[in-house]
Amino acid sequence: GNPRVSSMSKFFSSRLKQTEPYVPGEQPNETKVIKLNTNENPYPPSPEVQKAIQRAANETLRLYPTPTLQELRQTIAKTYKVHQDQVFIGNGSDEVLAFSFMAFFEPGEAIRFPDITYSFYPVYAKLFNVDYKVVPVREDFSLPIEEFYHAEGGVIFPNPNAPTGRALSLLEVESIVHQNPEKVVIIDEAYIDFGSDTAVQLVNQYENLLVIQTLSKSRSLAGLRVGYAIGDKQLIEGLNRIKNSFNSYTIDRLAIAGAKAAFEDGDYFEEIRAKIIETREQTAKSLDNLGFEVVESKANFLLVSHSQVDAEELYNQLKEQKIYIRYFKKPRIQHYVRITIGKPEEMERLLEAIKKHI
Ligand code: PMP
Repeated sequence: GNPRVSSMSKFFSSRLKQTEPYVPGEQPNETKVIKLNTNENPYPPSPEVQKAIQRAANETLRLYPTPTLQELRQTIAKTYKVHQDQVFIGNGSDEVLAFSFMAFFEPGEAIRFPDITYSFYPVYAKLFNVDYKVVPVREDFSLPIEEFYHAEGGVIFPNPNAPTGRALSLLEVESIVHQNPEKVVIIDEAYIDFGSDTAVQLVNQYENLLVIQTLSKSRSLAGLRVGYAIGDKQLIEGLNRIKNSFNSYTIDRLAIAGAKAAFEDGDYFEEIRAKIIETREQTAKSLDNLGFEVVESKANFLLVSHSQVDAEELYNQLKEQKIYIRYFKKPRIQHYVRITIGKPEEMERLLEAIKKHI
């Protein structure tokens, strides 16, 4: 069984009892698998990252990290043309999301997020006692944006959305921010670098806008655990208060060094994200040719279904051949599988296996 969802102690708080923990995708131990199930980047990080981590390992591990993370904040600020006081860094964007729920959302005031979306949001909402109202996505998985206007307690959604890959335009995002002037609107931009427009350019205009990004996807550093938020100085101060209240270092010296090097190698970043976008478009075309319905995606994954193929069976079949994709046993998407974009040769192997299955 999964140790994360096993027993229930009588000592657990009611918050904890009502929280079904998030179940992450499989991380098989074997090395010879084709892993297209958790939206990792198939390419290694910039070679500069490994060098920087090696250097930090040789020289600085004796020392605590600088609690303000000033150097990395400066690097991120420079990358996105904001002030360093507008940057908060955490242990993966999951931690930044958790801190944001704690800092900005209030029990008794329902926040809104889409149904379907990243399944961590309801987990955090329950854990932190935040009420929520889901906004169903349309038949084509697009978001009815007006239903995010005037939210009682605030708004959070991924752009592009997960696991659909559908993106909003910058104007649509802005209208949601604009129509919630008294509440925080969080845009989770984990997949923003694969072809849609970031809302970071709006943070100087809207004091209620918080943009969260990660190094896990477009910068190939899921294993390093670095995420960050960009927003108004006061929102960042709120996040710092949470951080200093129980976990004041959050990221370690190796992560700081590696992340900094990743931002400084902009050419490498551009190169691999272009490759992934190209592979996505190729794969979408091939799957379409095989009769799949392919949801339009601006992320590094595709949500697809086939009228003649049982999604769960396809997932299991591929897994037997050591090709891992993601199946969600959930309403609305139980006939779909989600496929992370890998290297072209991995997608070829996948397509061959699918062809044999259908
Ligand atoms: N937001 C979304 C929408 C995601 O899909 C993920 C990755 N599972 C995350 C945030 C968290 O990513 P990380 O903690 O690795 O930064």
